[in-house]
Amino acid sequence: MDLRAFDGGYCRQMLGFVDRRSWQWVRFHAVFWAFSHPRHGWILIDTGYGGRFRAATQGWPYRFYRYVTPATTNGSASETLRRGGIDPREIAHVIVTHFHADHVGGLAEFPHAKLHYRADAWSKLATLSPWRQLRAAFLPALMPTWLREHSEIVEPSQFVDDGRCGLSTYDLLGDASVYLIDLPGHAPGQIGVWWPEERRAYVADAFWRESQLEPGAKLLGPALALQWDSSAYVDTLERLRRWRARAKIELIACHSLIAERALQGASHV
Ligand SMILES: [Zn+2]
Repeated sequence: MDLRAFDGGYCRQMLGFVDRRSWQWVRFHAVFWAFSHPRHGWILIDTGYGGRFRAATQGWPYRFYRYVTPATTNGSASETLRRGGIDPREIAHVIVTHFHADHVGGLAEFPHAKLHYRADAWSKLATLSPWRQLRAAFLPALMPTWLREHSEIVEPSQFVDDGRCGLSTYDLLGDASVYLIDLPGHAPGQIGVWWPEERRAYVADAFWRESQLEPGAKLLGPALALQWDSSAYVDTLERLRRWRARAKIELIACHSLIAERALQGASHV
């Protein structure tokens, strides 16, 4: 399987909130991904900030988003894909890990695709007041008008824990090649993607930097407070640590150093 990383823009963050050994400002890249499937071609995972972030943060209260996480976008996600040699019109499936703006900003650019996500990832955010949506890093203006018609929603009850990874999973294509993993805590209904044969999983924002996988590593209070459900976040991270240690799984997170290196290199992981 070929897994490729794409530059979806970045925001600047104080590293110390994640890893208190260093207090420098760093770039957190919004990496998005495409992986190849023998029957379905390239399947996209998230889209980065896309090309409409500025327009989506024009009005209040959403404008605050720009100040809290100063983002630099990388233009349209579909153009980024095209430059990387993938025709965006051929993308038939997009997996949406969660609805934070740095993951879904380019969704509207893929009107031919089916979007796959967990039901509560969308429903819990869509019904919030604008201020609460802002606090949950959700920008409704980024949502495509055709979202509902093009969605293949997975219900929470479809995820099952068969004991293989210590988290519940769902066989996305019915061929046991790609599973969605339930990763509670960071955002409502957050999911990752697991390729069992590759011993590799993409876990979105279940952690930000690899240092968080070290035993006993803890996020500082303000970073923990950003999570949708902080105790679920801590529990999910612990499950990922145990899974990695037991099954020698490679875990890739959106803003992690592995992802950053994938961007700098040939974009292949
Ligand atoms: Zn996120």
